[in-house]
Amino acid sequence: MNIILIGAQGSGKGTQASLLVQSLGIVHIASGDLFRVVSQEQTELGEKIRSYLDKGELVPDEITVQMILNRISKADCASGVLLDGFPRTVAQAQALDKGLQGAGQYIDMVIYLKVPREELISRLSGRYICQAQQHVYNIYSNPPKVPGLCDIDGSKLYQRSDDRGEALEKRLNIFFTETIRLLDYYRAENRLVEVDGEQAIDQVHVELMKIIKNWDRSPPK
Ligand SMILES: [Zn+2]
Repeated sequence: MNIILIGAQGSGKGTQASLLVQSLGIVHIASGDLFRVVSQEQTELGEKIRSYLDKGELVPDEITVQMILNRISKADCASGVLLDGFPRTVAQAQALDKGLQGAGQYIDMVIYLKVPREELISRLSGRYICQAQQHVYNIYSNPPKVPGLCDIDGSKLYQRSDDRGEALEKRLNIFFTETIRLLDYYRAENRLVEVDGEQAIDQVHVELMKIIKNWDRSPPK
């Protein structure tokens, strides 16, 4: 089963991704991590990706899709994959569908972890990270025992500049603008499932597993 997981930063996407790949026995493909790995490889694809990254340019969608198809074709992905971080735009979704079709595969379902903007802002603006080892705290939901200091190593906590004010607003604006179109694309093909991401972590997981179990796996028309 091939699944795409969509969620804003702060939506709990990473946590749900880990739980899903464990429960379903599929492989988690986070596009950012895959870029880092493949761009180190001495392959034609690795070199191509490096040439864009070195110039500080965006990697074209076809090359990203090629990278993902290569990964999906490996033996460990026989039971399916969970894509995370790609596609972000409709053009990327179309390129991915086309590439998968050529490989005799398709995306079974697209999960959107829905968390309202105000909730994301309060989650992200409460995020603090420790200087020594990047342990993550949240002053609202997961505060340190001593304010301003890491429980584990005692180092000072700081807030990332893009988790604050305008930078955060801008990042969320981009996410919601791109994502609304992407969701429309998958909704039109009956591949979209929206789940309330404001529930507790285990509740979200239980709901997702229930939906996946009953999902009609017929290929898209
Ligand atoms: Zn720490």
